[in-house]
Amino acid sequence: MKRHALAAALSTAAVVAGAAPAAPAQAAPFGTTPVSPSKTACGKAGFTDTVRCGAALTETFLRSRKAQGVVRETVIAPPAPSGLAWPSGPGVGSPFCGYADLPPILALGAHHCDRTTFILPRTDKERLFTDDVAATAVLIHESGHGMQEARGVDVVIPSLTGDSGRQKPMELSSDCWSGVGIRYLIGTGDLPAAAHGEASALFADIGSPADTLHGTGPERKAAFEKGYADGPAACNVIAGVRAFR
Ligand SMILES: [Zn+2]
Repeated sequence: MKRHALAAALSTAAVVAGAAPAAPAQAAPFGTTPVSPSKTACGKAGFTDTVRCGAALTETFLRSRKAQGVVRETVIAPPAPSGLAWPSGPGVGSPFCGYADLPPILALGAHHCDRTTFILPRTDKERLFTDDVAATAVLIHESGHGMQEARGVDVVIPSLTGDSGRQKPMELSSDCWSGVGIRYLIGTGDLPAAAHGEASALFADIGSPADTLHGTGPERKAAFEKGYADGPAACNVIAGVRAFR
């Protein structure tokens, strides 16, 4: 979809949702439900606890890198039809941020912008948030986009316009960042050793030859393993910008 068409779709969506055009800077975006991160939710079954666990472990990892501010909060996007876009806050590389679930036109699944990670249960629940390890691997990937935005990278427009030359390095470096995080959390005992293989298999599984923005399964798995083995510096090489530390 072209940028202008998308902007039009999002503003139409805002009207559909009956929403104000701008969201407040420090509260959950209009219509979304904030997730309360909690390590006590780890080990429990069910979507909500799985997301709460993943968000808490992502926070633990980000804090260890002195980067907790890149994810202000994790939120559940409202059910379809819904959508809203707003200008990003200061210091964020993407010019605007938003969420949208307008089947069959548009569905923005798990994504990150303006220091907020969005989850769309309709598309993400069965695919990405199957257990604590998967949820953590995915939410650390999303926090990688927060690291990029904090370095002035626009991760929104290339994604929406299908500019794979710009977006794919951002996606693979976030997969790499997930490898850094999963290794850290195994080291702290927050995740079992088996989380390495499980998360690696997840990225292999969700990659697709048809997905020119995120990469093939082998590419995504290799990026994850690179971060796991070599740390944040390897992710910067993939990104082509010093976003990770
Ligand atoms: Zn991504």
